[in-house]
Amino acid sequence: MQLPEHISSAQWQRFKKAADQYETPFLLLDLDVVRNKYQELERSFDYAGIYYAVKANPAGEVIQLLAELGSNFDIASTYELDKVLGFGVEPQRMSFGNTIKKASDIAYFYQQGVRMYATDSEPDLRNIAANAPGSKVYIRILTEGSEGADWPLSRKFGCNPEMAVELASLAVELGLEPWGISFHVGSQQRDIDVWDAAIAKVKFIFERLLNEQGIQLKMINMGGGFPASYLQKTNELVTYREEISRFLQEDFGGNMPEILLEPGRSLVGDAGVLVSEVVLISRKSSTALERWVYTDVGKFNGLIETMDEAIKYQIGTDHEGEQGPVILAGPTCDSMDIMYEHHKYELPLALEMTDRVYWFSTGAYTTSYSSIEFNGFPPLKQYVL
Ligand SMILES: *Cc1c(COP(=O)(O)O)cnc(C)c1O
Repeated sequence: MQLPEHISSAQWQRFKKAADQYETPFLLLDLDVVRNKYQELERSFDYAGIYYAVKANPAGEVIQLLAELGSNFDIASTYELDKVLGFGVEPQRMSFGNTIKKASDIAYFYQQGVRMYATDSEPDLRNIAANAPGSKVYIRILTEGSEGADWPLSRKFGCNPEMAVELASLAVELGLEPWGISFHVGSQQRDIDVWDAAIAKVKFIFERLLNEQGIQLKMINMGGGFPASYLQKTNELVTYREEISRFLQEDFGGNMPEILLEPGRSLVGDAGVLVSEVVLISRKSSTALERWVYTDVGKFNGLIETMDEAIKYQIGTDHEGEQGPVILAGPTCDSMDIMYEHHKYELPLALEMTDRVYWFSTGAYTTSYSSIEFNGFPPLKQYVL
């Protein structure tokens, strides 16, 4: 098999040995890769605080490992909070990064000791003031130009810079500490220049607040967006580091605020391989050139990010030899359960039913997105190496 560039043949041997013990479908996660990715990010952005976005892969082993490595955590719900607290992580190492939250959930976070809250609207800010008095708040702004992102997060989150200025000054009135500005340039962001535009907006907000209201913000939360290794190539992390550091330097120079990152995909994506089995190979007519290959994983048990073919995973099988075009689909009775139809994947002509199909770099946004009982299929299982 042609292995993806980021997997050595020694790694693959070790991986196969473990994978052969389990029945498909399952995700196999290599914790060494998570460790390496974390340490690489920490070395690259040695000036930044790292807050792991738990939703990317909430496995206990991942939380525990990252907690031991000194990571902080970006938390989106009371459930994630309870889980991460359960691993002994101090609430001072957590932020409530979801801008969409119930007042009662804010109260719960506060009661558990969390003092950092993201917001992007006045009603939410007022809820924070009422239920988490005196806390630090950071205001999330909208970013444009998420075309380079394979999984955009635009529109739903963030407010425009003008509103961010108003919210920061309202935060002071409400007795909160307006701590900084956050943004997320879109997940799997291949266009590094969008950080430049986002950082420039942050600078504008910092200056407006200081010059007009004497409010000094202290922090920039640059979100996630760092890449995993899919079909479409991205720059290396070092290039992200160089470019983004330069943007920060140009805009903030000697007056650098505290910098936070919230990686999800880039820490866990490459650590996972989803192992599936071919359920059926068929053709729609006797002369059809393409084979339909149905696997026991699909959109509903791990591969939801193939929606609109947004994320294109690298795929492999145990066969060598001549390849031909396939349409890849999942096992459920929903016609939406097709992973790739427009992008033409090729798989070996020798592929047969019960053979295994490997989906590389599937450590992020697979288990956590898996449905619980659609057509009776259970949630995607996960094992760790
Ligand atoms: C999902 C999410 C992240 C992680 O983004 P990646 O692109 O997976 O690194 C970071 N911050 C927030 C607020 C998020 O919602």
